[in-house]
Amino acid sequence: MFMIGLTGGIGSGKSTVAELFAEQGTPVIDTDAIARELTAPGNAALDAIRAAFGEAVILADGSLDRAALRRRVFSDTGARHQLEAILHPRIRQVVEHTLAALNAPYVVIVIPLLVETGAYRDMLDRILVVDCPEDVQIARVMARSGLTSEEVTAILKAQSERATRLACADDVILNTASREALRDQIATLHRRYLDFSTIQPS
Ligand code: ADP
Repeated sequence: MFMIGLTGGIGSGKSTVAELFAEQGTPVIDTDAIARELTAPGNAALDAIRAAFGEAVILADGSLDRAALRRRVFSDTGARHQLEAILHPRIRQVVEHTLAALNAPYVVIVIPLLVETGAYRDMLDRILVVDCPEDVQIARVMARSGLTSEEVTAILKAQSERATRLACADDVILNTASREALRDQIATLHRRYLDFSTIQPS
């Protein structure tokens, strides 16, 4: 199966683009969604996180305090690596398991930190970057999350720069206009990926 890695900075529109691919009938695997499922109460990943970071990252109802965990790992590289060592192998296992059960010309795998970590590059045929100017990213994330401009800017600074991400791209979706404009770009890419998947079966 032909594999597309979909990435982009926070608020660039990855989830929105992924939804539009799914509308075309393309299977979408979202590594962020898998991470959320794996850290739900009752899952072994949550127990491992509790053992590594303590009760400070667990809410009173036993669920993960995502904001506290984000703060904990944001400025502490060692803690971030520890969290990655818990989550990444488990996420990868779910991705591989899901892929094995799929039968489609191509699949889109959403990987927010693809450029930063290099994860999954070994299995991808193409990298699709969703791009937009930083001020648009900041405005979207502020509207979605209630974070301040400073907080969103700090998250952006911890991610790859726009140019670095674009340099890794085989395909780029510029998401600055309406959702309708996005739909047209995705329809074009969908046809291209269907062509690739028949020309270069992998
Ligand atoms: P990401 O998954 O990259 O963080 P999202 O797809 O969640 O980004 O988009 C961030 C926010 O911006 C969401 O609230 C989404 O609905 C909105 N959004 C994304 N693309 C557009 C667009 N072209 N027009 C208007 N709003 C958009």
